[in-house]
Amino acid sequence: MLSKKNDYDSGGEPSRKKIQFADQKQEFNKRPTKIGRRSLSRSISQSSTDSYGSAASYTDSSDDETSPRDKQQKNSKGNGDFCIKNIKQADFGRREIEIAEQEMPALMALRKRAQGEKPLAGAKVVGCTHITAQTAVLMETLSALGAQCRWAACNIYSTQNEVAAALAEGGFSVFAWKGESEDDFWWCIDRCVNLEGWQPNMILDDGGDLTHWIYKKYPNMFKKIKGIVEESVTGVHRLYQLSKAGKLCVPAMNVNDSVTKQKFDNLYCCRESILDGLKRTTDVMFGGKQVVVCGYGEVGKGCCAALKAMGSIVYVTEIDPICALQACMDGFRLVKLNEVIRQVDIVITCTGNKNVVVREFLDRMKNGCIVCNMGHSNTEIDVASLRTPELTWERVRSQVDHVIWPDGKRIVLLAEGRLLNLSCSTVPTFVLSITATTQALALIELYNAPEGRYKQDVYLLPKKMGKTGSIAGSPHPPRME
Ligand code: NAD
Repeated sequence: MLSKKNDYDSGGEPSRKKIQFADQKQEFNKRPTKIGRRSLSRSISQSSTDSYGSAASYTDSSDDETSPRDKQQKNSKGNGDFCIKNIKQADFGRREIEIAEQEMPALMALRKRAQGEKPLAGAKVVGCTHITAQTAVLMETLSALGAQCRWAACNIYSTQNEVAAALAEGGFSVFAWKGESEDDFWWCIDRCVNLEGWQPNMILDDGGDLTHWIYKKYPNMFKKIKGIVEESVTGVHRLYQLSKAGKLCVPAMNVNDSVTKQKFDNLYCCRESILDGLKRTTDVMFGGKQVVVCGYGEVGKGCCAALKAMGSIVYVTEIDPICALQACMDGFRLVKLNEVIRQVDIVITCTGNKNVVVREFLDRMKNGCIVCNMGHSNTEIDVASLRTPELTWERVRSQVDHVIWPDGKRIVLLAEGRLLNLSCSTVPTFVLSITATTQALALIELYNAPEGRYKQDVYLLPKKMGKTGSIAGSPHPPRME
């Protein structure tokens, strides 16, 4: 559950930098300057990286400098209720969606099984998630089950422009493009919600920004909203805070802690994506390299297994005796970080804790050591401590910095200490399929639940429902616990 001891800093806040609501004072017709846009973007990228999105968009339309907000576009049916980079990329995006469908069997099975019943008929879903091919498969499934959808991106960098184009061509009201500014980000969310003659009755959120926008700007909308489905650690944390303060006014489903997501995401997803992230950024050879992995929870276990399989010599640091014992039983050498810090080639943090790799350790690393983080928070590595005048920063590739000491020693810092796989690699579609199916089931359950079944609280999807994929409308729909 949320009380994972180390995920939050001592203030009880997620240790990521939160988007501050410029709230009621937000003026959408005020555009930031180009410089302003860039610096604002950075703050959002830190704030919305705790759930999965494909880091890669295969079309790079960055040469087109015109803001999508300044363009008037229509799809082939004359519908212009969307704002995306370029509608002409729709065919390409369609191919991406078709490829994703092949690896999303659970979602496709749900679509086939339930489209006759239309369990979401009448549902008006407003969504804020990564806009990728996998999300498109989810949106098209929700639509096949009867829902109307309006969608914005939960991350300013993760939108696949071609996929957004395919969705807009297919009639979805999508407001998202890769490289939004902070102002764009909120504008897009507002365009999803604020439409004459249309009010959402379900929220599908990833990070809690959409939910909070509605709370701040349109609280009356909650009269019609039947429930919130939330995907990320951070969003769930914000929901529990609302609930604790007695301010949660509709039932919410915590997808993040569902057994299906936990079992697949943390272990298997990281096992697959750690190598991808390291390889794309550094082209490192893993065989024979000495690696220290900090934390042997689910994420750490996945990273260790992948690196060991590639022939790396893997050391583990742990503070929990059971996890430490597990590391030993699995054949890893348990060490203290200061014992190996001078000799290792790669350092990976996977703890959810903060200040695991502090300046003292960074000072002692050998020349060329690669340093990265797979945990939720970008404070596991004390990156701030590297912003001192005697150290030189050199951006050598996208998401790769060399930090150089006065004696010429350099370390290779990836993604500025943010989650490596979300910043620098893709995430397996199959894993996303499991999460997306869980989201769809949660929406169906909340939308169809009889009055009174759910109170204004945060619920978990029960194991049984996650496993069997049974949906509301069956004679004995399982209760949420
Ligand atoms: P977990 O609680 O199972 O494991 C974390 C482990 O780190 C624990 O065993 C804990 O004892 C250990 N630890 C804490 N502080 C430590 C320290 N200072 N030194 C050494 N070990 C320490 O959690 P998890 O499921 O493995 O997730 C870890 C982090 O990764 C979380 O922040 C989570 O949100 C994040 N996460 C990332 C991804 C991804 O794709 N990168 C996926 C899922 C979760």
